[in-house]
Amino acid sequence: MTRTAIITGSTSGIGLGIAEAYAAEGFNVMLNGFGDADEIEATRAALDAKASGTVGYNGADMTKPDQIADLVAQTQADLGEVDVLVNNAGIQFVSPIEEFPIEKWDAIIAINLSSAFHTIRAALPGMKERGFGRIINVASAHGLVASPFKSAYVAAKHGIVGLTKTIALEAAQHGVTVNAVCPGYVLTPLVEGQIPDTAKARGITEDEVKRDVLLAAQPTKEFVTTEQLGALCVFLASDAAASITGTSLPVDGGWTAQ
Ligand code: NAD
Repeated sequence: MTRTAIITGSTSGIGLGIAEAYAAEGFNVMLNGFGDADEIEATRAALDAKASGTVGYNGADMTKPDQIADLVAQTQADLGEVDVLVNNAGIQFVSPIEEFPIEKWDAIIAINLSSAFHTIRAALPGMKERGFGRIINVASAHGLVASPFKSAYVAAKHGIVGLTKTIALEAAQHGVTVNAVCPGYVLTPLVEGQIPDTAKARGITEDEVKRDVLLAAQPTKEFVTTEQLGALCVFLASDAAASITGTSLPVDGGWTAQ
């Protein structure tokens, strides 16, 4: 039986890595996210050509509950019932709270936290009905610990860890597991984009941000890779992972062990 996975925010970075991992395992995959339409179509077509399953795309804006409902409905119509839901879409903004723009707070809470409420609300009933489901929330090491100047992001990521535990309890007797994956730093456009702002907020150079802020937190001194996260998501979707639920799994090179 071909399983179907939705990965939100999968036109780039970690989400794309997770989508590639599921496609390689023969899942039907629904991509989602923003970007240049031609580039997205080229990515979708290339994945679809390589995969034994079908790869689709829906451009739902994760700040819009009606578009999120359409994403789930279109997946069911085009690819089949949703077996795996990966809530990955996310944005970042770095600033002291006194200057933190209100609209940035609202957008981060909407995309990084509330969107998962909406996708789970739409996809969970079918999973419960069929007695199988896997929900994976891409949180962050910042779902477990804080850093200064990331108030909205840290609040949203701690929030999604709480949402993970709650839905894990609600779904526990229905064959549905719910887990959060908590990456340390992965060199994606999201991280590259915050380097100049962090440099400004801390009054240091961009190289110093990489060395003294980002990798300073990671005892391995290595960035986490999208391939490592994709492999973990494939495992969490397997039957072998049926007893892993309600967890927040750090993939952070030892950051939160300190
Ligand atoms: P990225 O910027 O490379 O990718 C983000 C994805 O989300 C893109 O596909 C983008 O189009 C999509 N997206 C943004 N706003 C959207 C919206 N309103 N609606 C739909 N899609 C939207 O970032 P990334 O680093 O791959 O981050 C992915 C997830 O991993 C985020 O939740 C992020 O918080 C988390 N994370 C990243 C890191 C890291 O170091 N990169 C570490 C821990 C957690």
